[in-house]
Amino acid sequence: MLTLGIESSCDETSIAIIKEGREILANVISTQIPIHQKFGGVVPEIASRKHIVNIMPVLDEALQKADKKLSDIDQIAVAYGPGLVGALLVGVSAAKALAYSLDVPLIPVNHLEGHIFANFLSHPQLEPPFLALVVSGGHTALVNMKDYNKFSLMGETRDDAAGEAFDKVARLLGLPYPGGPQIDRLAKDGNPDAIDFPKALMEKNNYEFSFSGLKSAVINYIHNAKQKSIEINGADVAASFQKTVIDILVYKAITAAQKANMNTIVLAGGVAANSMLEAKLMEQCAQNDIKFYYPSKILCTDNAAMIACRGYYQSLKGKFADMDLNAVPHLTLTDWEE
Ligand code: ATP
Ligand code: MG
Ligand code: FE
Repeated sequence: MLTLGIESSCDETSIAIIKEGREILANVISTQIPIHQKFGGVVPEIASRKHIVNIMPVLDEALQKADKKLSDIDQIAVAYGPGLVGALLVGVSAAKALAYSLDVPLIPVNHLEGHIFANFLSHPQLEPPFLALVVSGGHTALVNMKDYNKFSLMGETRDDAAGEAFDKVARLLGLPYPGGPQIDRLAKDGNPDAIDFPKALMEKNNYEFSFSGLKSAVINYIHNAKQKSIEINGADVAASFQKTVIDILVYKAITAAQKANMNTIVLAGGVAANSMLEAKLMEQCAQNDIKFYYPSKILCTDNAAMIACRGYYQSLKGKFADMDLNAVPHLTLTDWEE
């Protein structure tokens, strides 16, 4: 069973071919980061146009890498949301055209579920149940994964996502887009205890997040320093900010796992690539007798292999789409009960 996955929700055009749900034959990712860097963030119209230019060459490369022909493909999985509508439409249109012409099923995949399923590709032995902490560019959520097609949302962010906060703070410090990896690097030279930033919603049994106050606190800190002509130490700001985010994420993930009676935590989304977050969660999980998994770096950020993997498991329940499938820019993580 070969599943071809398509991802075009933001600034990566990606097509993957996977075998039996977990074996990656090809995972071609064409990133537009250098194009958007000039603007300090993703420009939606440019992203859509680049996806159109990239999608066929990426498809050809994926088939070549996997050493397969289009006629070998058994089903097409596509991320139909959340994301930028114009960007998503390129992937959805390509997926529909392929499914129609090859006469194979079309599988509509929630991009955020894809991030969680990236872990099944990195860890062949991993199986539900587990508690998933999704920390991506636009989302932060705790998901109780009872089974491949049975899960519920324990809580999410009320405002900014963790990745968004990383990107905004990086911008304040004059670092290029995307800011997460830049903060990660700069923080290594800073003192994480130099500045005491606020932690929101830290009360027990609260599995929601809020990062907008933290972002404002960093803005105020930099603004005040400038007014007093005090030179700010960027590395200290990066390290202190990063530590604050990680303390919140780690505390919430561990307490949520205990609440849900789960002895496994799985990290997902672009921020999962953060070296300090991985290290802290590993340490805290070990102390609390919890198993911990996170995806390989390349599978943390947007890629089509994770979409194909989620699509494969969804297909086992017959969750297919018709030719009227549309992009859903504000698609959310919701409960599944199959
Ligand atoms: P979403 O998945 O919510 O729709 P997205 O697809 O844009 O959003 P992802 O691809 O999951 O986001 O991840 C990109 C985010 O991950 C960016 O905010 C980026 O700054 C962040 N990120 C990537 N690497 C790191 C890192 N090492 N440390 C912290 N953040 C990181
Ligand atoms: Mg991206
Ligand atoms: Fe993503």
